[in-house]
Amino acid sequence: MILIVGGGPAGSLSAIALRDHDVTLVEEHQSAGFPVQCAGLVSENCYKVLRRYSDCKLNEIRGAIFSSPNKSVELEGRVGGVVIDRRTLDRDLLLKASENANVFVKTKFVGVRGKRAILKGLKNGEIEYDYIIGADGVYSTVSRVFGFERPKLYSALQFKVRFDCFSEDLVEIYFGFSDYFCYVIPIDEFAEVGVISSRNPWDVMKRFTRWLGKRVKGDVIEVNAGAIPIGLVNFVKGNVLLLGDSAGMVKPYTGGGLYYIVKAIEKLSHFPNLKRIKENYLKDLGFEYKVGMKVAKLYGMLDVEDYDHLIEVAREHHYLAKELDMDRPSTLFKLLPAIFRVVKRRRLLLKLWRVLS
Ligand SMILES: Cc1cc2nc3c(=O)[nH]c(=O)nc-3n(C[C@H](O)[C@H](O)[C@H](O)COP(=O)(O)OP(=O)(O)OC[C@H]3O[C@@H](n4cnc5c(N)ncnc54)[C@H](O)[C@@H]3O)c2cc1C
Repeated sequence: MILIVGGGPAGSLSAIALRDHDVTLVEEHQSAGFPVQCAGLVSENCYKVLRRYSDCKLNEIRGAIFSSPNKSVELEGRVGGVVIDRRTLDRDLLLKASENANVFVKTKFVGVRGKRAILKGLKNGEIEYDYIIGADGVYSTVSRVFGFERPKLYSALQFKVRFDCFSEDLVEIYFGFSDYFCYVIPIDEFAEVGVISSRNPWDVMKRFTRWLGKRVKGDVIEVNAGAIPIGLVNFVKGNVLLLGDSAGMVKPYTGGGLYYIVKAIEKLSHFPNLKRIKENYLKDLGFEYKVGMKVAKLYGMLDVEDYDHLIEVAREHHYLAKELDMDRPSTLFKLLPAIFRVVKRRRLLLKLWRVLS
């Protein structure tokens, strides 16, 4: 029997992919997708997979406005984006998973006794397993119980507000306010205004919303706070597999987890060969993680003048953005020779060279 711990996207998608096996999924809450800890922005490619199970699209995105406190540039990449409703997605996925798996909600995995998992909330409290998939999120108990390494955590804070967006089909990404970035994601007359930082996100949010000024209209309607794991860890040990946030399966340069989960689920076709699953995942995305980590490192090194200069460069050479895929930072790597040719600021060049080369 395969025990899946967690009924978020990683857990439910695993149960769906493993429908020909004997699967039990446990979720500690009454339902999945609450509290929402997601801005809901995914690539068209990611949504193509998710929409097989859930019609959760809220908005279509054609590009982004990248800004520093002083300058901005509008760019469109190779692939567009979709804003989804995470509550709907998680609910639909868990429902679909329950068609073939035994799903127990209000059931918490707390540990193991030999080959038996200890489950709080289940009638007899224990269940025998052959494999465990730890899809129990960023503070994974499975990871802790089996002694896996933990990814580094960044903090995310997000306000839903009525907002005066520049355009309803452009997201806004702001650099220079934190050691990561801030964002505005439009949904009708509202927006998810978010900050990500390795430090206190409330301080960053205060500064950022003050700077946005009157574009923020009225009070905050919803607050979401959560942790974002940065850095993929070893996710296979014996008969235990970590999937999703528990393993740091998140794009290190955006904090988005759904696409990298969808790619991990594809590899479950090799189940029960967990080593093969890992090898195939790394073959597909290992280099993307490597480049993504370098970009995340750069966020902490660049200052406002660096960002100003990069935005000027992007304005002049906006055609380069057409080569970029939001899920694949290796596409940025291919542009490095061109970028090194057009960046004029010597200190910035040195930083880029030190981190990216
Ligand atoms: C503010 C914020 C904004 C984000 N925005 C985006 C975005 O725009 N796009 C994107 O792609 N990603 C985004 N992400 C990341 C994305 O939300 C995560 O990568 C994704 O939710 C990970 O899915 P998961 O299934 O691994 O974990 P989760 O969604 O956290 O699900 C884990 C589940 O396990 C359950 N669980 C935990 N412990 C136990 C236990 N011991 N026993 C039983 N059940 C347990 C939990 O209740 C939960 O339902 C964002 C994250 C944050 C914090």
